[in-house]
Amino acid sequence: MAQFRRVLVANRGEIAVRIIRACRQLGLETLAVFSSADRHSLHVQLADSALCIGPPAAQDSYLNIPALLTAARLGGADAVHPGYGFLAESPAFAEAVCRSGLTFIGPDAAVMARLGDKLCARQTMAGLGLPLIPGSDDAITSMEQAKHLAQKLGYPLIIKASAGGGGRGMKVVSGPTELEQALALTRAEAKAGFGNDSLYLERYLTTPRHIEFQLLCDGKAALCLGSRDCSAQRRHQKLIEEAPAPGLDAAESARISALCEQACVELGYCGVATFEFLYQDRQFFFIEVNTRIQVEHTVTEMVTGMDLLAWQLKLARGEPLPPRSALLPSGHAIECRINAEDPERQLPGTGTVTGLRLPGGPGIRWDSHLYPGYAIPSQYDSLVGKLIAWGEDRDQALSRLQQALAELDIKGIHNNITLQRRLLVSPELAQQMPDIHFVERLLETQ
Ligand code: ADP
Repeated sequence: MAQFRRVLVANRGEIAVRIIRACRQLGLETLAVFSSADRHSLHVQLADSALCIGPPAAQDSYLNIPALLTAARLGGADAVHPGYGFLAESPAFAEAVCRSGLTFIGPDAAVMARLGDKLCARQTMAGLGLPLIPGSDDAITSMEQAKHLAQKLGYPLIIKASAGGGGRGMKVVSGPTELEQALALTRAEAKAGFGNDSLYLERYLTTPRHIEFQLLCDGKAALCLGSRDCSAQRRHQKLIEEAPAPGLDAAESARISALCEQACVELGYCGVATFEFLYQDRQFFFIEVNTRIQVEHTVTEMVTGMDLLAWQLKLARGEPLPPRSALLPSGHAIECRINAEDPERQLPGTGTVTGLRLPGGPGIRWDSHLYPGYAIPSQYDSLVGKLIAWGEDRDQALSRLQQALAELDIKGIHNNITLQRRLLVSPELAQQMPDIHFVERLLETQ
């Protein structure tokens, strides 16, 4: 398999910094790319070299495949790490990278295409024995077909765009009178947003938890590194994540992780993968596979002691998986996402960081690209940091995270620290992670 020496980091923000750190651990050189809005970004400062790939709009820079390939050539890179977001799940990008003779740090483009389309993933996983949420077998082709299926499934139900992602391209429908309009609206949004208007239906589960499994695969074998709970969400966007997911049915959870491993082996999958499920009444229901590193990979790292970014690089150069006996998870980890946003109006925040007070102490980790004086551009994702606490058990992890959040202070930009402090002291969360509507419930009762 491919050997490489210099990795182009096709991303920005905290994940670009994280990739650079992992490369350095393995003795690999790094080439950062940046838009003109990111000239002063931390990843540009930390990489061995850096090239500007275009103007601020992501379409013209971080999503611009020809610009990225040109940068790789000019900067002497022989591998590309896509991070998450942007082109991380674009089979066209993975293919273009490989066609240019570079190593793509991620799975094969064909496997990515098969799993990246949510409906296709649903069909694939049904064939591999994973339990699905009752819903469509095929894409919706007519209103008659949709009405018929909706009647069979019952309400509420959820319309999903096959090409959707990141919480976009989904609409909950509470009754038959809304169906026609909701379908038309979601179809139009999917066409405009993803250039693909394929839709399908699923029963809408009312009180599920969001549980996912982290997989590591070398093309021949697969190893499940355990579960995460990501039920603390707002508008389908995750806010708090933890590992392992507390209070799961142990036998069912072992059965599902074995099925995920088997699915990866059948697919000849190489790289990291996340299998996402909804969990209700002690049952798992598959929703999607993510074929890239996820924001919340950190909590799995904290309980397994494994560097998942380093593993992505090692798997891409053909190294085999660690033996199952090397997997010795210990303790509990919880992460909260720190976003630059106005929490009242839910608008992305911009501005300059005028002060930064960081927490510390046993078990505390801060992954971020912020520094005092950094001006946050308005064009990109609002995530500016991830605060993670590890503890010997869940109570200790939670108490450490509460303490760290009390210490964390970011001046000069709107942020969600106050909201996160509120969530983390909620009695509902103290028990175990509640269902996916927990954050909405808490915000309604202010
Ligand atoms: P995305 O790819 O946009 O993240 P997902 O399919 O992973 O979309 O779903 C994101 C979130 O939407 C889930 O974590 C859950 O909160 C909610 N969701 C998705 N499907 C359902 C469903 N059938 N019933 C209830 N909630 C759902």
